[in-house]
Amino acid sequence: MISVDKALKVMLNSVQPLKQSEKISILEARGRIFFNDVIAKINVPPFNNSAMDGYAVIAKDTQKKIPNKALKLKIIDVIQAGGSFKNKKITSGTAIKIMTGAPMPEGADAVIMIEHLIEKNGFIYPARSVKKKENVRLAGEDINKGTKIFKRGDVIKTADIGLLASLNFKEVTVFRKPKVAIISTGDELVDIDEKIRPGQIRNSNAYTLQDEIKKNQAIPYYLGIAQDKKKETVKKFREALKYDLIISSGGVSMGDYDFVKEAVKSLGIDLKIEKIKMKPGKPLAFGVKGNKIFFGLPGNPVSTMIAFIEFVRPVLLKLMGAEKHKKPIVKAILGDDLVKKPARLHFLRGVFSVKNGQFHVKVTGSQGSGILKSMSKANCFIILKEGLKFAKKGDLVPIQLINHENI
Ligand code: AMP
Ligand code: MG
Repeated sequence: MISVDKALKVMLNSVQPLKQSEKISILEARGRIFFNDVIAKINVPPFNNSAMDGYAVIAKDTQKKIPNKALKLKIIDVIQAGGSFKNKKITSGTAIKIMTGAPMPEGADAVIMIEHLIEKNGFIYPARSVKKKENVRLAGEDINKGTKIFKRGDVIKTADIGLLASLNFKEVTVFRKPKVAIISTGDELVDIDEKIRPGQIRNSNAYTLQDEIKKNQAIPYYLGIAQDKKKETVKKFREALKYDLIISSGGVSMGDYDFVKEAVKSLGIDLKIEKIKMKPGKPLAFGVKGNKIFFGLPGNPVSTMIAFIEFVRPVLLKLMGAEKHKKPIVKAILGDDLVKKPARLHFLRGVFSVKNGQFHVKVTGSQGSGILKSMSKANCFIILKEGLKFAKKGDLVPIQLINHENI
């Protein structure tokens, strides 16, 4: 048996990012990963412009003090956002009315806000002085032409889409989406809407897995249920080998009808991991064949989900080029007394709240690995490390924020 940390290392070391990319609209790009570094070909903003509605002036003019005389500047023109600033030039003693976002006229080096002056009979009377560059947005102050604005492996966020638009990118090159095959195993399983016999249950793993895969920007291909027969299991896995990654659920423990490991081995998949020191999810198989990756997840619905979140998700992210795959772990005050198996790391379904800036956490109810309801209520995992025998109410424990973005 291998520890959780070591298992994840083995898995990540066995995977290389996909070699193929695709070009997509920036509007489809959120959550996808840059395949190339992106270099700015223009300045943002492209020209010096006003940050305020007001008057473009020469800063020095506003700093002059003439005894017993109010400072006044002659209004000579007006520039609107998007307006032309050709032949518009400021000389000492003059001012040009200017709107937010409008280009600065020649000669002007500051803007005095409309709120800080009086306009009267073609003149402005500034109530205060301005410094050079005050209320001016300089060309390139957001992005300088030639800078590397994004690097290969960065995840694209909403603000990035705005930056890409400012830089005149309509499309962006990202890693292609990994194709992921899902196989459910078990004679007891039937899919939604199919006729159910006594002793059978609905297949839920195929659905949580499809959604997890979509949520992580990959494409799920559900290949159906493999009955607990060796020949049929082999056939399903052979079909699955044309995908980048194969995930099966069930059939990897010690039961008489657990054929998954035998089946994948017979297809040449090299099993690198068969058991992990964790609860739930101990019987977790991981293997590779060339650039194909295989995960045999345990069948219990919560084990399947935890195994996905802790192991498949980081591997998928690496496959699609992402550099970050960790969910943040913070400390929280525990609201329950808990006992555990010292030989294994426990992931408990928890719900955290924040009171006075401090995280608090409680378990969501029964922690049986078939109790999906307590997963549904959870917004974090309480992590109780190997070696620990219990944790007490009031203890500070690590919790993993499973809905937070990767860091
Ligand atoms: P197994 O790992 O095949 O021994 O399955 C462990 C438990 O998970 C059994 O109670 C199965 O009925 C259940 N199980 C296996 N696969 C699924 C599935 N796709 N959906 C819901 N429950 C499942
Ligand atoms: Mg089974």
